[in-house]
Amino acid sequence: MNLEKEWDVIVVGGGPAGLRTAIKCAEKKLKVLLLEKDQELGSPVRCGEGLGIGWFNRLGIKPKPEFAVHPINGAVLYAPSGKELVVRFDKISGYIIERRMFEKFLAREAASKGARIIAKTTVTDVIKEGEQIIGVKAVHAGEEFELKSKIVVAADGVESVISRKAGLNTTNNLYHVDSGFQYEMAGIDFKHPDLISLYFSNKYARRGYLWIFPKGKDYANVGVGILGSDEKTAKKYLDDWLETQPGLKKGSKIVVNAGCIPVGGFLEKMTLNGLIIVGDAAHQVNPIHGGGMGIAMEAADVASEIIAEAIEKKDFSDKFLSKYTSRWYEKRGNKLKDILKKRKMLEEVSDKDFEVLVNSLNGEDVLKIAHGDLIDSAKTITKKLIKNPKLVTLMVKYLK
Ligand SMILES: Cc1cc2nc3c(=O)[nH]c(=O)nc-3n(C[C@H](O)[C@H](O)[C@H](O)COP(=O)(O)OP(=O)(O)OC[C@H]3O[C@@H](n4cnc5c(N)ncnc54)[C@H](O)[C@@H]3O)c2cc1C
Repeated sequence: MNLEKEWDVIVVGGGPAGLRTAIKCAEKKLKVLLLEKDQELGSPVRCGEGLGIGWFNRLGIKPKPEFAVHPINGAVLYAPSGKELVVRFDKISGYIIERRMFEKFLAREAASKGARIIAKTTVTDVIKEGEQIIGVKAVHAGEEFELKSKIVVAADGVESVISRKAGLNTTNNLYHVDSGFQYEMAGIDFKHPDLISLYFSNKYARRGYLWIFPKGKDYANVGVGILGSDEKTAKKYLDDWLETQPGLKKGSKIVVNAGCIPVGGFLEKMTLNGLIIVGDAAHQVNPIHGGGMGIAMEAADVASEIIAEAIEKKDFSDKFLSKYTSRWYEKRGNKLKDILKKRKMLEEVSDKDFEVLVNSLNGEDVLKIAHGDLIDSAKTITKKLIKNPKLVTLMVKYLK
């Protein structure tokens, strides 16, 4: 490999977390190398490809037509009976993106800022000097080599072999892993091409939901996310549900993708001497809807700030790098823990009770519940209690 042997930062993995880390470290004039095991950045895709407008704004990413392929104006939630609850905004609330293109866009940005990216290169282990991680071992086209770096970033996705090899057991509790399965479908009929459609039913998606994320008026990602340890597979849930949807059933399946989603089980420890973990590898995902791209990129921003400080102070110790953990919890992690509590309540809601909720709430209420804290959410529901005695029974049951 014609590569320099010493780097400030080596990033393992070229997903949103790794690429954003590379961009931000390169902006800070650090010498950064990103190694990706797959032969093409952005492929294969394991994602519904939905990204809210808030993330574009917070991260300062312009939704370019090359990757932001379909604007979304809100969501429609379907109760088990098929009753709809429409949450529509008067402006764009997000995009369905083409991750193949998005990751290439991020990679080009990283490269143009000075980062070096090499695809088809698997990092097989870390190199240690005592307790300090000082580099990685990697393989490219059958050739094994070693590289040194001041800091290694494990952005290698949900399995994060690198974190484990470094000495941190990041294995997720099965309760906190969802299993996702999705078809990219063409030639389909569905009702709301400007909204994402979410279907809730314990029969068709136990502890989860089915989705239609439109990429055009007859073209969409159609998928399901369920409890990973369910005895029935996510594929079987999706196939069974598609049989009940004539407009979808007739369509073509042009891409099939599947993957695990770490929905909770946040890591108390996300650093070691010379190592920082970012993105799915650190379980940084919204525990209710399973979205992780925005959260991964935001965490990468926090990580790169700490990396730059560490390099300036020449302190790559776990103690110094662990500032990343506390800053991330302040910025995002604590909110996600709150969302995890809401998920635990939602998990208990039976199909029958869900029906009562959908009949009692409107789109605005749903937004308040989704964005507010537990007290705000309880207040929103309490206002409705006066009008609907059935909700009183529900409140007592679930808040107990
Ligand atoms: C079915 C499904 C649907 C989803 N839908 C959405 C959605 O609609 N919106 C959303 O925001 N999120 C969604 N997610 C979650 C989202 O895909 C992840 O949260 C996001 O990809 C996390 O980014 P990451 O960079 O941390 O990890 P990844 O995207 O997994 O990237 C990790 C990268 O590391 C590479 N790698 C792994 N090991 C090594 C190694 N040893 N050496 C070198 N490279 C390595 C991998 O090849 C990969 O490219 C979904 C997930 C699934 C499974």
